[in-house]
Parts: sequence; C-alpha cells; structure tokens
Amino acid sequence: MRIFTATLGTETNTFSPIPTGLDLFKSTLWYEAGEHPDRPTLFTGPLIAAREKARERNWTVIEGLCTFATPAGPTVRKVYESLRDRILDQLRAALPVDMVVLGMHGAMVADGYDDCEGDLLERVRAIVGPGVVIGGELDPHCHITDRMLSNADALVCFKEYPHTDSLDRARELLDLCADAALGKTKPVMAVFDCRMMATFHTSRQPMRGFVDRMKALEGKDGILSVSAGHGFQWADVADVGTKMLVVADGDHARAAIMAERLGRELYAIRDQGTEAYLGIDEALDRALGIDGGPVVVADGADNAGGGAPSDSTFLLAALLERGIGPAALGPLWDPVAVSFCHEAGEGARLKLRIGGKIGPTSGHPLDVEAEVIGLGRDVKQTFAGNAVGIGDAAAIRVGGVDIVLNTLRTQGFGPDLFTNLGIALAGKKVVVVKSSQHFHAGFAPLAKEILYVAAPGTLGNDPREFLYTKMQRPKWPFDDDPLAS
Ligand SMILES: [Zn+2]
Repeated sequence: MRIFTATLGTETNTFSPIPTGLDLFKSTLWYEAGEHPDRPTLFTGPLIAAREKARERNWTVIEGLCTFATPAGPTVRKVYESLRDRILDQLRAALPVDMVVLGMHGAMVADGYDDCEGDLLERVRAIVGPGVVIGGELDPHCHITDRMLSNADALVCFKEYPHTDSLDRARELLDLCADAALGKTKPVMAVFDCRMMATFHTSRQPMRGFVDRMKALEGKDGILSVSAGHGFQWADVADVGTKMLVVADGDHARAAIMAERLGRELYAIRDQGTEAYLGIDEALDRALGIDGGPVVVADGADNAGGGAPSDSTFLLAALLERGIGPAALGPLWDPVAVSFCHEAGEGARLKLRIGGKIGPTSGHPLDVEAEVIGLGRDVKQTFAGNAVGIGDAAAIRVGGVDIVLNTLRTQGFGPDLFTNLGIALAGKKVVVVKSSQHFHAGFAPLAKEILYVAAPGTLGNDPREFLYTKMQRPKWPFDDDPLAS
C-alpha cells in the first residue's frame, strides 16, 4: 500500500487588507517533501498519521510539500497555483498510489479561486483516477463545497474549538481511508446545509454535548464519521456558512438523514454557541467588579488567526484612558515598534507610536511613553503542545499595562506569550488576549473569569455588518427561518 500526503492551506478572510503571498507561507509553516519533523502541527496531522499507519502496517508513505499561511486576505493567484502545482507534480512522481491524504483548511480563497480545496481535490482526482482513495482533513471553520465532496472519498473536520484534536481526527481519517483502500468499507458523504452563520465554542454547553453526541454516533450503524463544518463567516464566497457532514458506509440515504437531523439540531442552538459578547467599557466594568484576577478579556475581532492585523488599539486605548492596571495585552503586531525597542535596549524609556497601522479596523495608532521591560528573538508560545512562533518581540510597560509587541503576526494562544518575555500574569487585574477562542485552552486554568468583547475589527462578530456579494440565500441571520423553504 502506497500513501501520498501533503498539506496546503490557509484560512482566507476576504475582508482582510493583508495579502497572502509566498513569504507568509514560508514564515508560517513550510516543510519541503520529507523534511517534516515528527512533532505534529495543527494542519499536518495527516502526514504524521500516515507515517504512523505506514510503520504499523509496513506500508510506504510518499511525502509532498507541507505549507500553511497564517490567515489573511486572498492568496495571490500565482502563489496558489505554484504551490498546488508543486504538490500535483510530487503526486505524479509518486504514482502508483493507493491513497492520497491531504492536510487542508477548507476556507482557502485565492484570486480567481473561491474554492481552492475543491480545485486541488479535483486535480488530484484527475491524476489518480476513480479507484484511489482520497481523504482530507479540514478545520471546522471551512466552506464545504460540492466540488470538494464529489472529488474526495472522505473529509473529516476537527471537532474541537479550540482545535486541540487535529492529530486525533487525522488518525481517524487515516483509518477511514485505509479501510476503504483495503475494500473493507465504501465511504459515501452527505451534507446538510444549515443555512446560517454562527460561532460554536466547544468548551461550553450546549456545543460540548453536541460534539460528544457526534462522537458517540461514529463507528456504529454504518456511520463512519460525523463532522460539523462551523463555517468561516468572514469570506464572501458562495458556500460560506455552517454545514453538517456525515460519512456512511455505502448508504448515502443513511448519511443524508443523519446529516439533516444533526444539522437541524445545530441550527436550533445557533445563538447559544458562545458567551455573550460585551462592549469594551461594559467588559472592563465587569472585570473591575470581579474580586481578584486576572480577568481574561478576549479581543476576537482582531484575531490574527482569522485574518485580522492584530494591531487594533480600541481595547488598549480604553485601558490607558481609564487608567486600568495592572494589566497585560498582547500580541500587538508592530514590527517597526519592535525594532525600535530592540535598538533602544532593555530598560530604555522611549516615545513610541504603537498599533493602529494596517487598516480601517485597526483604530488609531497610540503615541505612548514606553519602558522596555523585555526583549526576545524568535520568541515562541504554546498551543496544544505545539510551539508557535511570534517572531522577534518586545515587552513594554505603558502606564499600568504591560504590552507584548511582535513581528510575526499570530493570535495569542498561551500564557507563555507573556511569561516568555518576563510578564507575570498572576498579579494582573486584566489580561487582554487577541484571539477568538484558541486562547481558552491555555488561559482558562489561570483566569478568574473569561469575558468576550465585541470590539470593532476585521472579525466583527455580526455578519450583517459585512458586504457579501456571493453567498447563497436564504441564510440566518440575514433571513428568518431559512430552513423553512
Ligand atoms: Zn478554525
């Protein structure tokens, strides 16, 4: 048995002002064929799982390029085409193969390609023909399209948000594909379009219970896999929105019935998927009213993990104006300010203009008197056991707020974002993290309480504030009761 594997992905926020080009892929995640380490990353689970499976069964793995770009705006057309064509060339050179397993995201958009994964899978199918099993792992923040479904045998999404289960799901994908390649099963996929845009945190009810029920349905009565494609609402594409995906063994009707049943359940809990979002002052008032700390405040609207600049100043300005402290905030993406801090050195005091540079949703830059309290080169933070680079970084103190400035745009994942630069969180009243939900895994154990803020930003949480020209209607919250028609 011969398995080909590769990874190509990003999560495209078509409203983001930041272009996705080759440098962004190279600086985020880039492993040439055969050079991926044994340590998994969020989007290369299929490669790790393929290696494990091959060792166990004495099969052969042929590895292609693995690359992923931090979410931003649409990928440059030539860059997408060249990465795709490299992987397709590697696949041709690997033939004959019995299985192709791809690490993808599911929400990659390039200039001229609204459905990069569908395009990639279609070209893979054209190369390997109908007899080869094709599987893909997706982030739940994906757009599941007919083109993807008709060219793959099995697609599996991460189930958890925060995404702490990517390797587990990749192992399931490998099992599913291996059984199909051995002729033990015949996977068929069905999707139910929930006709909505919604966000679901699996760290809380009722979504926690929904995920547990999805898992309990797998492996019995001919159901091979159940995925909730939450969708990624910050993309103006036809297939934006939430969909339920079920893989059954040979019985499409069974898959379709279950997808619809679960999809309607998901629709029913659409506005219970997250905590309530608070206004900036409301959140800070709430935090000040809580005894002790730290109260962790999530600025999801400026989450680099969803394509935002991570340089907005709305929350920071409020903290400074109100004299709130001791507080911490990060990461604030500002390569120029970082270079000035490194130049000035630790202990220096300097006038610094920070943040507010990249786009209209960044707010205004702030001119501050800063003390440099920590410096680092190629600094890391931790998410689900993986080291995630934040680039060169500086910790500065402005009034009562300790701020992490960084050069490699990324969301705040773990408390070591701060502690690795010498900022202790234990004594802080408020800790602002630029992240939608992934921060929850690392920060929940130390947080006195967690608050979610609806600040202005590239990932504003009301889709009605964004201009969609391609999405299919009816769709909630644009239309009432879209499933009635
Ligand atoms: Zn995601």
